[in-house]
Amino acid sequence: MTTSSEAFVYDANPARIVFGPGRLSAVADEIAGQGAARALVLSTPFQKADAEALARSLGGNSAGVFAEAAMHTPVTVTEQAMAAYAAAGADCVVALGGGSTIGLGKAIALRNGCPQIVVATTYAGSEVTPILGQTANGVKTTMRGAEVLPEVVIYDPELTLGLPVGMSVTSGLNAIAHAVEGLYAKDRNPVTALMALEGIRALRDALPEIVARPRDLAARSSALYGSWLCGTVLGTVGMALHHKLCHTLGGSFDLPHAETHAILIPHTAAYNEAAAREALRPAAELFGGELGGGLWDFAQGLGAPLALKDLGLGEADLDRAAEIAVTNPYWNPRPVERDAIRALLGRAWAGARPQ
Ligand code: NAD
Repeated sequence: MTTSSEAFVYDANPARIVFGPGRLSAVADEIAGQGAARALVLSTPFQKADAEALARSLGGNSAGVFAEAAMHTPVTVTEQAMAAYAAAGADCVVALGGGSTIGLGKAIALRNGCPQIVVATTYAGSEVTPILGQTANGVKTTMRGAEVLPEVVIYDPELTLGLPVGMSVTSGLNAIAHAVEGLYAKDRNPVTALMALEGIRALRDALPEIVARPRDLAARSSALYGSWLCGTVLGTVGMALHHKLCHTLGGSFDLPHAETHAILIPHTAAYNEAAAREALRPAAELFGGELGGGLWDFAQGLGAPLALKDLGLGEADLDRAAEIAVTNPYWNPRPVERDAIRALLGRAWAGARPQ
């Protein structure tokens, strides 16, 4: 782990976090706190009823609902949302949902500078990052900038009680993946290391409870707390091999976001474990002393998907995936070597425990 005797730079993102059961009721006050009065409420079609209920509860502070948010923030959807925002006379957005809905809010703020209030309902972490990925003509590009960082994040664990168990598990492992890569990030610092470790610990404790009792409010609170910490790490330091592989498989092979993270994190942690042993040691201790294998056992115990072949990736695609992943690699504690990456992908494809 980084110690205070090492030199570091800590660039914190400003954040106003409103956390706790029932805090959905704070949305109107938070709109006013931003000097705004009329929010366009955003959601996916799946969460439209929740978005409409929130809009009703906001009364005159609601400028209506736009419920067409979609995975990977398609620019065509953003353009429709911009038109709805202008037609409704909105002056801010409230994004109710996971990374897809939050991405739409960020894309709107990028274009018109409006304040964003996010009510986060998954563990993906986008709500606390200044990162936006957008898709135009089938190509996803990612940008980073203070203008896309949401001003306010509300975490109300009651809204996650109905997050399906399978999604809770994969989304929680997605959050853990941010923290694992944060622990060995080249630009890590003592504070991000503390947040990463505490985030992993909270999710390690909460996810088995959620699998056993999905409506356990204490476990849901702990998971959301952990995801906030892990997301903050993602938004503060650079990511490495794991995120590069997930972006490759998501972008070039259309694999689903959270499931891909969940399957790969034991393998990428194992790949980097020897090269980043000191930085990873406290996390490894949370999983029995060995991080890669321990995470795989943990994921298996939660009933998480373990094999990329089950997400529809063909074995014939593995060579091309390895080639893309080693082209312009992100910084990584262990050199990113084609044959070793191909072997890693082969094990993840088959669902084997990492070596
Ligand atoms: P998602 O937002 O796509 O949500 C998946 C589905 O679950 C949606 O239909 C959604 O409406 C539903 N859902 C969300 N919360 C629910 C709840 N509490 N109860 C019931 N249903 C619920 O999934 P995600 O994994 O949160 O986000 C994935 C997207 O976010 C990807 O496009 C990814 O690239 C992006 N992302 C971006 C960042 C960033 O920093 N920019 C970080 C993480 C993820």
